[in-house]
Amino acid sequence: MSVRLRAKVHVRRLVLLGIKIARIVHVIHKFKFKGKNIVLDVNSGCIHLVDDVVFDILEVYVPFSSVEQNLKLCAHLVSKYGEDEVRGAVSEINFLVDSSKLFSTFKFEPIKEINSPIKSMCLNVSHDCQLRCKYCFASHGNFGGKRMLMSSVTAKNAIDFLVRNSSNRKNLEVDFFGGEPLMNFSVVRETVRYARSLEKLFNKNFRFTITTNGIALDDDKINFINAEMHNVVLSIDGRKKINDFMRVFESGMGSYDVIIKKFQRLVNRRGEKEYFVRGTFTKNNLDFSKDVLHLFKMGFNRISMEPAVLDKSVEYSLENCDKNRILEEYERLLELVMKLRIVDEDFVFFHFMHDFKKGPCAIKRLKGCGCGNEYVSISPEGNIYPCHQFVGISDFEMGNVNTNDFNYSMKKKFSIPNLCSSSECKNCWSKFFCGGGCSANNWSFNKSLDVPHKLSCDLMKKRMEMSIYMATCK
Ligand code: SF4
Ligand code: SF4
Ligand code: SF4
Repeated sequence: MSVRLRAKVHVRRLVLLGIKIARIVHVIHKFKFKGKNIVLDVNSGCIHLVDDVVFDILEVYVPFSSVEQNLKLCAHLVSKYGEDEVRGAVSEINFLVDSSKLFSTFKFEPIKEINSPIKSMCLNVSHDCQLRCKYCFASHGNFGGKRMLMSSVTAKNAIDFLVRNSSNRKNLEVDFFGGEPLMNFSVVRETVRYARSLEKLFNKNFRFTITTNGIALDDDKINFINAEMHNVVLSIDGRKKINDFMRVFESGMGSYDVIIKKFQRLVNRRGEKEYFVRGTFTKNNLDFSKDVLHLFKMGFNRISMEPAVLDKSVEYSLENCDKNRILEEYERLLELVMKLRIVDEDFVFFHFMHDFKKGPCAIKRLKGCGCGNEYVSISPEGNIYPCHQFVGISDFEMGNVNTNDFNYSMKKKFSIPNLCSSSECKNCWSKFFCGGGCSANNWSFNKSLDVPHKLSCDLMKKRMEMSIYMATCK
């Protein structure tokens, strides 16, 4: 008998944290791409490559029914494939169902909260920036407030707050963010030194990241960043004309020529340590695969390209009418990424590289980014917010690290949104990869933490299909 289910890629099964059995959901997602019929079993994470007859049968197949019952449902396929083929395929599908590799069950009752210690912190060390990027969500660095830098006292208090609230978590993450963090680099250095001085004392291990526009980079800062930062995020949008249309100085001058050589120098000296160049696409560069190619040609092999999620009143915002064009561009990008990985096997396009064998932990799968619960952001005044995208929204102020106030009930509120609390997410095939989307976007578009932003979901799902396809090519 021919093997119809030709290959499967196993994903680590979810360990479901003792969630009690109440509801049972069976889901598969199937799609065709570049001549392959691909079926994802959502709950087990198994990926199957199937032939046409299996693919067509799955359109009507009812799990846990007998072969005879399913054959009746497939009667219309007999003239196309022949009775023996259809019968054989139904038996093979039944075998996979019995082995919990297709239509496997996810049993849960709605989870009230997933409360965790705080393990990550975004330190907005500078609410100032040299640039005036047209899509900036941070009001060009000041988050709608006054331009200011964080003091070293506030930064140290923030580190103390993180250590105090991290319980027995050993690995703690601190992201130096802004505005532009290099505008307050002395505080970055001092904070790193201070945090390191606490590691032995409190049995902690700090991992630092910095996100920069590159304007103020020099050799001294590059050396410090490469020595101390576990990861670096370098903001540039790709081709010079694209970058310089959006990422401009106050004078209107583009930033490309100022940053490109500095980013190259940093990456060339970084060795094996992690980094990625992070571009943003808007309606102005729906052909963003060309920006990825440009960045590769400029010597970068770890790239992400994020959709700008902007209010629809903004001229360059992505709209529903752009969706099909973006989905096509993701397909073009996939072709490009696969070609680039032949030239450079270390090439990574962040959104298409999913670790299907291990993947994120169960909490991350159920809860996504963990904002406001295991992750918080600190403004230069020391105010605590659920994440960098909530900074400056007074309704979401959670306390202050200088006065040592912390609103634990708001933290609890942020422990509630999860895959099981959102009806959209609960029924979404991509849920265990997505984790429930971005609460900040949900808030800004839907004034709810767990009602997802539809266009972002559609783009996320397309990226997952591309990742799954790539996994079948290994
Ligand atoms: S570099 Fe960042 S903070 Fe500065 S204007 Fe651009 S997007 Fe905003
Ligand atoms: S893609 Fe959208 S609906 Fe699906 S899990 Fe993510 S946020 Fe929820
Ligand atoms: S809410 Fe959105 S912006 Fe904030 S940390 Fe989560 S994914 Fe990032």
